[in-house]
Amino acid sequence: MKLFKGKACLICGENNMSAGIGGFTKDGKLLCGFCFGAANFGKDTKLQTHSSKQIVEYFEENELDFSPTKDIQTFLHPGLKQTVCQFDDERKRWRLTTYGKAGHNQEAWLFDYEDIASFKMLQHGKYEANCDRLRIEVEVHDMNVPVVYITFIDTPFDISKKSKRYLKIEDAVNECLAELRRITSIQT
Ligand SMILES: [Zn+2]
Repeated sequence: MKLFKGKACLICGENNMSAGIGGFTKDGKLLCGFCFGAANFGKDTKLQTHSSKQIVEYFEENELDFSPTKDIQTFLHPGLKQTVCQFDDERKRWRLTTYGKAGHNQEAWLFDYEDIASFKMLQHGKYEANCDRLRIEVEVHDMNVPVVYITFIDTPFDISKKSKRYLKIEDAVNECLAELRRITSIQT
């Protein structure tokens, strides 16, 4: 990952690559995993055969451009943050990646604020004092993906709810819920 240090995504300016690297344009500009996933390029749109100018135009034409104004992060351990979702207040869009068990990002999604139908926090643990899964379930007005999960904890090893890591994650979850509440209250 060091190789790409200091490089920022052509579309959104992301430079910590918490959603991974999506790919490169013909002229060597980088696209982060968030933007690459959200673009949902058709089979005939190969990133590496298009110039960065063409790609920027593609994003603008399809209303996929994004510039985060708020970043929600989880903690892989108390000192290591990872972005789970982002909000763009100017464009009224938000985006997230869904992660697999081993922390590999699977897919990136981009939605409008008005796509949010409802949301709730889901928590799971074998014991009351522990947690092995903590997510926010968001119902969206989208036929293809009616439900997405903002995942903060998904681990085979229970985390104590008294641990430093858990307390930091809990703050992040509350921040995310407040943000979702704020956004949906503007809509009505
Ligand atoms: Zn990006």
